[in-house]
Amino acid sequence: TQTLYVSARVAPLNSKLLLALVEDRTHEIRVDEVRRDFVANVSHELKTPVGALLLLAEAVEDAKDDPEAVQRFAERMQREGARLTRLVQEIIDLSRLQYDDPVASPESVDVDSVVEAALDRSRVEAEKHKIRLTAGGTPGLQVLGNVEQLVIALGNLVENAVNYSPPNTRVAVGVRRRDDLVEVSVTDQGFGIVESELDRIFERFYRVDPARSRATGGTGLGLSIVKHIAASHGGEVGVWSVQGAGSTFTLRLPLHPQRTGQPSAFETPV
Ligand code: ADP
Repeated sequence: TQTLYVSARVAPLNSKLLLALVEDRTHEIRVDEVRRDFVANVSHELKTPVGALLLLAEAVEDAKDDPEAVQRFAERMQREGARLTRLVQEIIDLSRLQYDDPVASPESVDVDSVVEAALDRSRVEAEKHKIRLTAGGTPGLQVLGNVEQLVIALGNLVENAVNYSPPNTRVAVGVRRRDDLVEVSVTDQGFGIVESELDRIFERFYRVDPARSRATGGTGLGLSIVKHIAASHGGEVGVWSVQGAGSTFTLRLPLHPQRTGQPSAFETPV
């Protein structure tokens, strides 16, 4: 539900202006509210790995005569430390992106190279979990934007597909042109998402299964970052999912107005 905020200051003005000012003020207060929620969430999320690190440091101290235990605790400290680093990086990314400002100085970006780079980021993890990565569709398409951001967005979708899939399944990235849009989809044969959760997963820090997300080093920020990157490119991200069967996340981006690709339909394992 949307709350409407009225400022007493605007009461004597004519009704059209009043409405404009009310809307203006509503936006301002909403932004403030979002910022406050964000800070509260961030503090809460930072406490978890920091708390774990403190406990582990104590455990190392207590176990100093047991080298195996020390080793185990040290590995867990490294994992928590890595999660903390990632969380901080994603918080920084998100705070830059959260107002959906259009990309500054957009450049032509080759969609194929974004797909390659996004897949590269998950190759090691995919191999470890016996998940096959494939790419296919229409080659040679271009969009206007920021290549690093697009790699982060698609990379997050591929990473999730790998993280939320059982072994011996496939993650397929497909590219196609639809009118003036490029659709890049990431399809997995993973755990899927129950319908009632679908519109919540793009919220910051929202996780369907927090334990599973944490176990994969997830921060709950990935999809929120994808949503903001899509918006700042004039596009959007959508999801289709069947619980227990798999999911498809689709990034839709405006095609580069001056460039188009060669239509073809093939799929190559990578
Ligand atoms: P996280 O860091 O937890 O992966 P995200 O914002 O990337 O955070 O995703 C939010 C939640 O959406 C995840 O915790 C997970 O529950 C769900 N999710 C995202 N991608 C998938 C997927 N491909 N299959 C199943 N569930 C997914």
